[in-house]
Amino acid sequence: MHTEHQKRNISFELFPPKTEKGFENLKHSVAELKAEQPAYFSVTYGAGGSTQKRTFDTVNWLMEEQITTAPHLSCIGASREEILEILEYYKSIGIGRLVALRGDLPSGTGLGDLGDLSHANQLVALIQETYPQQFHIEVAAYPEFHPQASSPQQDLSNFKLKVEAGADSAITQFFYNADAYFRFLDNCQQLQIDIPIVPGIMPITNFTQLARFSDACGTEIPRWLRKRLEGFGDDLEAIRGYGKDVVIQLCERLLAGGAPGLHFYTMNQSKPTLDIWQALGR
Ligand code: FAD
Repeated sequence: MHTEHQKRNISFELFPPKTEKGFENLKHSVAELKAEQPAYFSVTYGAGGSTQKRTFDTVNWLMEEQITTAPHLSCIGASREEILEILEYYKSIGIGRLVALRGDLPSGTGLGDLGDLSHANQLVALIQETYPQQFHIEVAAYPEFHPQASSPQQDLSNFKLKVEAGADSAITQFFYNADAYFRFLDNCQQLQIDIPIVPGIMPITNFTQLARFSDACGTEIPRWLRKRLEGFGDDLEAIRGYGKDVVIQLCERLLAGGAPGLHFYTMNQSKPTLDIWQALGR
C-alpha cells in the first residue's frame, strides 16, 4: 500500500530537450512519471547560452502544467548579476526549490570565463543572502568523491561548506557501490552534517553511454558489473534486464539502510525508472 509519505520521497531529473521530437518525448515521460506523485521534477542546466534557454523553456512548461519543479542552477561562467536575474525570474514564476551547483564549463571554453563565483558554496550563500529561506536548496554530494577533489577529506570539508552556507538537502552523484554511500553518510555524521542526502540513481540501459558518463563524473562501475555488461555486447535487452535487477537490488539496500528517498536520473525516459521504482513496491 502506498502512503503519501513514501511517495513524496522520490524525485525525477530531466534534461532540457534539443528538438521538438525530444520535447514530445519529455511530455510523454513526465505524464507517466507524475502518476507516481514525485516530490518534484528537476531540470538540468548547462553553462552554454542555448542550453540555458532550453532549461527555462522546460521549467516554464512544467510550471504551466502545475508540476513542482526544481531547476538546476550552476554558477560557473556566470556573473553575479546574471545569477540574480535568474533567481528573480524563478521567484516570479513560483519556483520554490533549486539544485545549486558549480557546474562544469563546456569543453573548449577558456579559463578566463570562470565567472564571479568559483564554488557551489558561494552560490548557496548568494541565494540565501538575497532570498533568505525563499528556496529549498539542494546541492550535489559525491559518495565516491568529486574527480577534482584534492582528497576525500577535503571534498567532505567542501561539502560541509555548502551545508553551512544554507543547503537544505543533497542529491548524490550516481553510484553502484552502496558501501560508498553508507560510508559517506557516516563521514557526514562525524562532521555534524545532518541534512538529508538522497542517492541519485542511474538506471542501466546502455553500457557504452554509462561507461562514458561514469568516466566523466568519477563514478566507479565495479569490475563484476562492467564485465557482465560488456559480456552482453550489443544485446540491449540483456543489458537492460540485468541492469534493472542490479539497480533494484541497489535501491532496496539503500532504502533498507536508511536512505531518505531516491532521485532518479531518468534521461527523459520513463520506463527504466518506473520498472525499478514499481519493483520496489513502495
Ligand atoms: P562544488 O561543490 O563547488 O565542488 C567542485 C569541486 O571543488 C570539488 O572537488 C570540491 O571538493 C571543490 N570545492 C568545493 N568548494 C570549494 C571551495 N570553497 N574551495 C575550494 N575547493 C572547493 N552539472 C551541470 O553543468 N548542470 C547540471 O544541471 C548538473 N546537475 C547535477 C546534479 C547533481 C545531483 C550532481 C551530483 C551533479 C550535477 N552536475 C551538473 C555536475 C556538477 O556540476 C559537477 O560535478 C561539477 O564539477 C561540480 O559541481 P558542484 O556543485 O558539486 O561543485
